[in-house]
Amino acid sequence: NDPSKKISFTRFIRDQDLVIVYERHDTMKAVKVCEGSILQNRFGVFKHAEWIGKPFGTKVFSNRGGFVYLLAPTPELWTLVLSHRTQILYIADISLVIMYLEIVPGCVVLESGTGSGSLTTSLARAVAPTGHVYTFDFHELRAASAREDFEKMGLSSLATVAVRDIQGQGFPDAYSGMADSVFLDLPQPWLAIPSAGKMLKQDGILCSFSPCIEQVQRSCETLKSNFTDIRTFEILLRTYEVQEGKLDGGCRGDEGVPLGALPCKRRQRSSEGSNVPENSSSTVVMARPCSEAKGHTGYLTFARLKCIS
Ligand code: SAM
Repeated sequence: NDPSKKISFTRFIRDQDLVIVYERHDTMKAVKVCEGSILQNRFGVFKHAEWIGKPFGTKVFSNRGGFVYLLAPTPELWTLVLSHRTQILYIADISLVIMYLEIVPGCVVLESGTGSGSLTTSLARAVAPTGHVYTFDFHELRAASAREDFEKMGLSSLATVAVRDIQGQGFPDAYSGMADSVFLDLPQPWLAIPSAGKMLKQDGILCSFSPCIEQVQRSCETLKSNFTDIRTFEILLRTYEVQEGKLDGGCRGDEGVPLGALPCKRRQRSSEGSNVPENSSSTVVMARPCSEAKGHTGYLTFARLKCIS
């Protein structure tokens, strides 16, 4: 529990720290600071030595006057930069998982599979400083890579990775009745649900992520015997680019006019009773769906263990 290893917004960057080098919202990468190393990108050459001792969030300059920001490796940023060894959960789903699993500091959480560790990183922060995440994957290499990542981020005291076939063997008996919540991201979650039920404390909550509705239906059938409050959610994200701009002439549906611009009628009404001529160019707020908006990722099914009175 070395406090100097914890992610912090106020701490200063040290040799061997992991930093997120931010160029723009869609161009970031994780870099381990090494005193003698350099980072070279389209903005020039950056010396790591010049980063050491600066607080996270600092803007640093290259030999050519270009700049990047050095950000702390928060779970949100980590999810955007990690190397994808599997499909991963993104932050919209992750936030719902943490909220509906009622995860708070001190909780014990079981997870399978670990995958690329995207969810695990956020779970670990949510249970800190006294709780723990035990995460299982049957793929040895993935488990080892996730373990290395958690080490790099200083999360080893909060997340333990183990190799195990959870669908075939279930969770280890050692965790029976100890988990506040269990999260499953497995191809056949219904095979692991009976074991997950045994791991949960009375009133504990389970969540299962599945990309198709047929898997959800099958899981719900299995959940019915020991769980209650079964609910399935699908999060659909739509991001808008919002800009201010000038709109000239009439309303056109062509490329010259952003699709989400305020409709003509409204613009006309706003000029009624004023001395602004209808056809003059005016400043409008324009919004159009962003091309990088993520659509369906999967369904999240939550269920609470039935109380045995
Ligand atoms: N939720 C993870 C994340 O956010 O990074 C991604 C999980 S990934 C989609 C699914 C993982 O389940 C894979 O790494 C796979 O190896 C693992 N898996 C599949 N079957 C398994 C089983 N029977 N036991 C344990 N892990 C399994």
